[in-house]
Amino acid sequence: MKYILVIDQGTTSSRAIIFNTSGKVVGQAQQEFRQIYPHPSWVEHNPIDILSSVRSVISTALTEARVKHSELIGMGITNQRETVVMWDKQTGEPIYNAIVWQCRRTMNRCVELEKYKEEIIARTGLKLDSYFSASKIEWLLKNVPKAQELLNSHRLLVGTIDTYLMWQLSGGKIYKTDYTNASRTMLYNIHTLAWDSYLCKLFDIPMEILPEVCPSSYNYGLTDKDILGFEVSISGVAGDQQSALFGQCCFAKGDLKVTYGTGCFLLMNTGDEALVSKNGLITSLGCQTDKKPSYVLEGSVFVGGAVIQWLRDELKIIASASESEKLARSVESTNGVFLVPAFVGLGAPYWNFEAEGLITGITRGTNRAHITRAALEAIAFEVNDVVSAMKKDLGVDILKISVDGGATENNFLLEFQADITNADIVRPKNKEVTALGAFYLAALNLNLFENLEEIKLMNPIERSFIPQMLCEDRDVKLEGWNKAIRKASFK
Ligand code: ADP
Repeated sequence: MKYILVIDQGTTSSRAIIFNTSGKVVGQAQQEFRQIYPHPSWVEHNPIDILSSVRSVISTALTEARVKHSELIGMGITNQRETVVMWDKQTGEPIYNAIVWQCRRTMNRCVELEKYKEEIIARTGLKLDSYFSASKIEWLLKNVPKAQELLNSHRLLVGTIDTYLMWQLSGGKIYKTDYTNASRTMLYNIHTLAWDSYLCKLFDIPMEILPEVCPSSYNYGLTDKDILGFEVSISGVAGDQQSALFGQCCFAKGDLKVTYGTGCFLLMNTGDEALVSKNGLITSLGCQTDKKPSYVLEGSVFVGGAVIQWLRDELKIIASASESEKLARSVESTNGVFLVPAFVGLGAPYWNFEAEGLITGITRGTNRAHITRAALEAIAFEVNDVVSAMKKDLGVDILKISVDGGATENNFLLEFQADITNADIVRPKNKEVTALGAFYLAALNLNLFENLEEIKLMNPIERSFIPQMLCEDRDVKLEGWNKAIRKASFK
């Protein structure tokens, strides 16, 4: 038998998933690693922890699946995006912890650069924010003495997690990244498909330390037998959200996926057109399989499934996340209650960091079922606001949305999403779409499939949710939500 190994290197854990050539998962393993918070709002990972967790899950997954090294024909990597590592080319040793995407240490630096924000959007498609890699790399170069020392002796390397893993697993032979990861650094020009000299100068980052950028489905090179115990070709690499979009088979322009996790991530394939949003969304590169670049429009909601955790852990009105569905269904409506979970401000399309969470419309008769129902509806309203922004940018209606993530277990949520967005919501059978995306990318490079149509047949729809709500009812609900959003935004 032949198998493909996928590494899903996430923010809190590393996973290894083994697929057979028909896309079936035959084994997997997961390991959490340390989150390091040296100061409030600073977030770091130890790169050595990341690497050892990856090695450990690879070996556990192979053992569990009883797959021999010789049966592996390829490897795919999908990873947390924007997080950066700097290391010594000679010894492989990191010079500092990885600075994680969530880390806000360079927030003030980004405020200083405010006058360059239009230029940054024009070149990278991104909003000027400490979230992206550029200001993190600049911080490392300025604050870690070893960085300058290694730079002067041409031994300094820097990369996102995919680059670090490939370099380590190949014994220093692969120094590459893919378009999707490069497009999140805020140093890569998404139109010319090259590292941007203007931005590298702005952040004072020498271009020679940046890795080579390649398509997501590509022969990156071989792992090193002495390091990993076996040699296998790395043939698919993508940042986690773009990998999920590919794993959802959103191959055509206008195809949209929503991941409902702690937050909600919306990505839409906009084909070979780099759409610049007028409605608070950002533009990045998607997984490229042929010569033409592929672009995506992205919007994220900060608090998605996390509002259900809040009901469980802080309000303690539900015992488990899954109880929320039963409770929500036990009442006919929220009875006029709206909950805006702006716990950390509001993300796309509002970008209002001053907004505060609220519950509005409470009466003497309001009970925990109404509040729980309002919390679930809030997730769908938030997602709908981003979908509306995408519709405006694209100028066409959106009739279908592919969904994944922990909260998609909740059928009530998806029914309400279909109703409020007036679109079909489709949930695939295999919900591991992030890993599946990296599997498809690797498999395409290994010529396991003739074309993308063949891939579409591999993960059928498990269930579709069709809109049932009357137009008038939808309008009333949206009006109530918009009023609540205005209150939360102090407008
Ligand atoms: P992440 O990858 O961000 O950790 P997951 O995809 O694992 O997230 O999803 C976990 C989130 O989904 C949690 O915030 C949890 O509250 C929410 N969740 C899980 N099951 C349900 C459910 N049945 N109904 C509503 N929310 C749920």
